[in-house]
Amino acid sequence: MTTTIDPTALADQILDHPATEADIAIVEHQLGRYPRGMAAVGARCVCGRPLAVVTRPLLPGGVPFPTTCYLTSPEAVKAASHVEADGVMQEYSRLVAEDEDVKAAYAHAHELYLAFRHEIAAKLGDTEEHIEGTSAGGMPVRVKCLHALIAQSLVMGRGANPIGDMVLDRVKDEFDPAVCRCSVLD
Ligand SMILES: [Zn+2]
Repeated sequence: MTTTIDPTALADQILDHPATEADIAIVEHQLGRYPRGMAAVGARCVCGRPLAVVTRPLLPGGVPFPTTCYLTSPEAVKAASHVEADGVMQEYSRLVAEDEDVKAAYAHAHELYLAFRHEIAAKLGDTEEHIEGTSAGGMPVRVKCLHALIAQSLVMGRGANPIGDMVLDRVKDEFDPAVCRCSVLD
């Protein structure tokens, strides 16, 4: 399983459209707090509202922030939490440990995450000093946070993260980027 996702092109494309005041306002409602360091919207619902954002590697005030692809859609957050509560984490962890294809694709997802963040950091002039080598969600060998993994799938598209893709398939009756179920409307 390989992907043709180009982290440089993806970072360019995303940063070509920096977060607007309207985007930030919606995300603030979604999260219930101001989204510090939000650089751009990384994925949108069919209705146009943000689903996941790209956050800069160094937050204002100098706080290192490794979770570059950050899930903001309340419906997606809830869906991921349901799967985590279902106890399927062990099942995913076993897949990553034992299935050679999944293991390789998951390791690649980690590399892609780091490469993407590096591009974002370079373009925004942020240091990655304290987060070098750290991606998100437990990658490259553990499955710890499905929210982070589906955020990567949403921002980078199908094929970027095998576990993120599996979780999106699993929750599609509850959350699907192609079906608007947005509860936060502005
Ligand atoms: Zn929507």
